Amino acid sequence: MSIVFDNDTIAAISTPLGEGGLAIIRVSGDNAVKVVDQVFAPGGKVKPDFLGSAPSHTVHYGYILNRLGERVDEVLVSVMLAPRTFTRENTVEISCHGGMVSAQRVLEAVLDSGARLAEPGEFTKRAFLNGRIDLAQAEAVIDLIRAKTESSHAVALTNLRGGLSERVRAIREAVVEVLTYLEASIDFPEDEIPPLEQDLDQLLTRAQAEVTSLIETARTGRIYREGLATVILGRPNVGKSSLLNALLGEERAIVTQIPGTTRDLLEEQYNLRGLPLRIIDTAGIRATSDEVEKIGVTRSVEAISRADIILFLVDYSSGLTPEDLELATTLPVDHTILVANKADLPPGSGFYELEDRFGEPVLISAKDQTGLDALKDRILHTASVIKVDSTQTVLVTNLRHVEALRHAHEALQNAHKALDGAMPADLITIDLHSAVDHLGEITGDTASADVIDRIFANFCIGK
Ligand code: GDP
Repeated sequence: MSIVFDNDTIAAISTPLGEGGLAIIRVSGDNAVKVVDQVFAPGGKVKPDFLGSAPSHTVHYGYILNRLGERVDEVLVSVMLAPRTFTRENTVEISCHGGMVSAQRVLEAVLDSGARLAEPGEFTKRAFLNGRIDLAQAEAVIDLIRAKTESSHAVALTNLRGGLSERVRAIREAVVEVLTYLEASIDFPEDEIPPLEQDLDQLLTRAQAEVTSLIETARTGRIYREGLATVILGRPNVGKSSLLNALLGEERAIVTQIPGTTRDLLEEQYNLRGLPLRIIDTAGIRATSDEVEKIGVTRSVEAISRADIILFLVDYSSGLTPEDLELATTLPVDHTILVANKADLPPGSGFYELEDRFGEPVLISAKDQTGLDALKDRILHTASVIKVDSTQTVLVTNLRHVEALRHAHEALQNAHKALDGAMPADLITIDLHSAVDHLGEITGDTASADVIDRIFANFCIGK
């Protein structure tokens, strides 16, 4: 019979389920070493307390045994003692053979020996609760795991290192300085309080500007998380579906010669030299009596309003039609790229009516796959014009952080107004306290237990 230790030692399979060369079972908690010791036979021989006397950060070869003493798997066990571990608790990692059965049976042996199955995100939650990482860093762990492009990975890694937290803490400290000063002047009105090095007005202005600049990175942050919404637009038959296919290099959209056949919105993820795009192919926008197509048209209008970039497709071989010109009037100049498709055919009447507005068209042939590199250059250029800046080191990618920053900004603004209006100091401090709290929500210094639970519930088991 195995001894049941307290509930505090948790275990889970930390690698994805399924066939693989290796799987890792992670065990963390005060009794992690004792729990594994009971089921581990170093070199195949039973040696009580073998791991208990092992130095920290060492690796040991042997077998995991089940409660009947039978060998479950041949493994390597890493012993890592607190506090130099991810959770800051004693941690043992068992590398066993991959595949559903091995990992599951090793986990069962560990659970039988007194560990409890970890909840989703519980390892990371412990790292947070034990002060190894802050909340924004914990959220970066999820972003890192879910990153789909190199750039979203890079952004998550910066946040994991604490890039965002550092910026937020610096702002928070500046606000706390103002707050401390004001509170001292309220508590000790008679005393001579040494003046701040910079005046209050300047300090608040700077804090507000810093918060604003972080909020402004959220657009780029969103794009790196979700992709730049890139809408392909044009009248029926100009080659929208063909362009989508040419970019993706696969037959995704149905290409036909009957105008108006791409009836719904098609959306595809595309990695443009590290910039993630969500390419949206629309049905042609035009008046129609066909009910199904009408739905498509409504969706296209919506897609335009949410587009970061519009690829306005016209037909090189036919030139402009009244329909093209009408459509053109609805498109925003700063993020529309004029693209003339079917450049493999003889030219039609030219595009001078639109060049003033959108610049020279990019000539492409979706059919022959020519001009696509020039189009990609233009997309990247337009992305930089609308300030999607991948060189920014800290990006706010998380909606929760954006909300907290907005609230902090509002509170700072109110404090600033109160200061300008020579309101009593205690009124100003109410707003400043609120700003400090909102900033603290990002790093977790002032986040409620509810918020913290919700964040970790998003993780999967084993993280
Ligand atoms: P959509 O209605 O805008 O999505 O247009 P499609 O992609 O369905 O294309 C309409 C027709 O134009 C099809 O017959 C395509 O083969 C043809 N097409 C598309 N791109 C090109 C091109 O670059 N050159 C030529 N010659 N034909 C093209």
